[in-house]
Amino acid sequence: MRAVIFDAPFSIRMAEAPKPEPQAGEALVRVKAAGLCAGDLYIYTGKNPYVSYPRIGCHEISGVVEAYGPGASGPAIGTRVVVDPFIGCGYCYPCRVGKRNCCANLAIVGVHREGGFADFVTAPGGNLNVVPDGLTDFEAAFAEPVAIGVQGCRRGMVSAQDMILVLGAGPIGLAIVEVARAHGAKVYATDLSAERLSTAADLGAIPIAGGAGLLERVLELTNGEGMPVVMEATGAAPAMEQTIDLVAAGGRIVILGLVKKGQGITFPGLDFTRKEVTILGSRASVDCFPEALDLLASGKIHYPRIASSFALGEAAGVFRKLADNPMALHKAVFLSED
Ligand SMILES: [Zn+2]
Ligand SMILES: [Zn+2]
Repeated sequence: MRAVIFDAPFSIRMAEAPKPEPQAGEALVRVKAAGLCAGDLYIYTGKNPYVSYPRIGCHEISGVVEAYGPGASGPAIGTRVVVDPFIGCGYCYPCRVGKRNCCANLAIVGVHREGGFADFVTAPGGNLNVVPDGLTDFEAAFAEPVAIGVQGCRRGMVSAQDMILVLGAGPIGLAIVEVARAHGAKVYATDLSAERLSTAADLGAIPIAGGAGLLERVLELTNGEGMPVVMEATGAAPAMEQTIDLVAAGGRIVILGLVKKGQGITFPGLDFTRKEVTILGSRASVDCFPEALDLLASGKIHYPRIASSFALGEAAGVFRKLADNPMALHKAVFLSED
């Protein structure tokens, strides 16, 4: 089969690779559409600490069930599916309490094992989610990033009564904007990039210019109260530290952004109790694919419209282009040519 292989940082090639054999409990999926995520770009640039080379990347996969390995079960062969890439061990504490996204022995498709930039990929049968009729393979490939927005909104208990502020209008911030909007919340977004911010506005957020003066603008908009829900999706330590000032007393902070390993962030301790604030982490997603697919099928998620599609054979060139300028594209999805 064809596969796009990361051999080492800044080394990527399209090559023939052996078609994978589904192991016990696993499905073989014929890949139809494979989304390029910042995580893949980090594999290309050598900044993903969890990956070993050579590796076939991609964890945003839609395709068709081709076969099952011994003892495996899942949707019928020929069914259109998306792959939930987070594989938990099932035995550790987070797995036992239903948080396999935080598994102590986590394996992610496209990071710890071969991913979807190829004609075929394998994954446990239980990680397949059926694609609703009416969604294209291309659109279905967005289930994974949308699921991250679903998880963030679940963690923040975002409802139609809420007013939320999303810090960062990159792909994750935009996923939160759209899911929160779909839930009926009033959504503000901020970003240092005017271009990203205007994309957030196109997707239904009320834009607030980032940078100096953000806190004053937020207090002005909220009669001095602060935002009931603040969702952090920049991964920048100063933005994370500012969430405690931006949030209203009694409100919730959800941190989705990732800082570098070892990087600390500090809050004024008194504000924890004074504001009785709830601070929540949110990592990838768990059991959010069905809702993500329903939202995509409902037409409430517009993000696929601003993404670009390419043939799988163009992948190496697209990675080189994005490594030079990560803002060159909102999102790339590679389609199998047949
Ligand atoms: Zn992703
Ligand atoms: Zn586990």
